Amino acid sequence: MPAFAELADGVRRLLAPNPSMMTGPGTNTYLLGKDAIAVIDPGPAIARHTDKIIEKSITSIRWILVTHTHPDHSPGVRALAAATGAEVLGMPAPTGQHQDRTFKADRLLTDGDVLETDEFRLQAVHTPGHASNHLCYLHGQLNWLFTGDHVIDGSTVVIDPPDGNMRDYIASLRRCRSLEVAALAPGHGEIIHDPERVIDWIIEHRLQREAKVLAAMQANPGLTTHELVPLVYKDIDPKLYGWAERSLLAHVLKLQEEGQGS
Ligand SMILES: [Zn+2]
Repeated sequence: MPAFAELADGVRRLLAPNPSMMTGPGTNTYLLGKDAIAVIDPGPAIARHTDKIIEKSITSIRWILVTHTHPDHSPGVRALAAATGAEVLGMPAPTGQHQDRTFKADRLLTDGDVLETDEFRLQAVHTPGHASNHLCYLHGQLNWLFTGDHVIDGSTVVIDPPDGNMRDYIASLRRCRSLEVAALAPGHGEIIHDPERVIDWIIEHRLQREAKVLAAMQANPGLTTHELVPLVYKDIDPKLYGWAERSLLAHVLKLQEEGQGS
């Protein structure tokens, strides 16, 4: 993936230098607008990435938005806000592990809130599931949805309870599906130009996985989630079993909430 790309008129993408098994090529930072800039997800706190955001913004940054407060998406906010004086927007970080506790919003967003300039209209869409405070942003002119970690390119995301919730995740996917957007701009990977096909695939894939979880639980009563992982995730690298166990637990909790499983 290129480190910098012009994706559409007034939409630019910078790739943060944090590639890993969990982040793929790295975290995408999006710059919207030309006269007044909105930055979506400044990424991790890496000085050379923050410098690049300022350099590529050309004009002044008015807003800094986050999709959620995981460590690969929001810690870069602090230095960028300090350097630019831009207003920071998002939902507060929940308590618990794997949260960026440095995140402080100047203005809290809720579902349906709109930011508008002469160039673009951006609407916050609350999409809990991967994280309880996850927001997607709908760009009205392009009809693109900036999806953070709700939908990423080429991979599935971890649903890590208790902040991650599989029932919410699938409900949020269905909601995004109903928006009938033209493209998804994910937090990791390339633009997705066939959103409905990809969202349908993710929902189907999750429900198939859930059916495997239920079948494995019924065939092997009393097994722990740790013991169930190799039975349910035969198709993945054992190095990922730790994360798979979190998603498996999310499926078990969903089944329990729905009165299935035990
Ligand atoms: Zn995340």
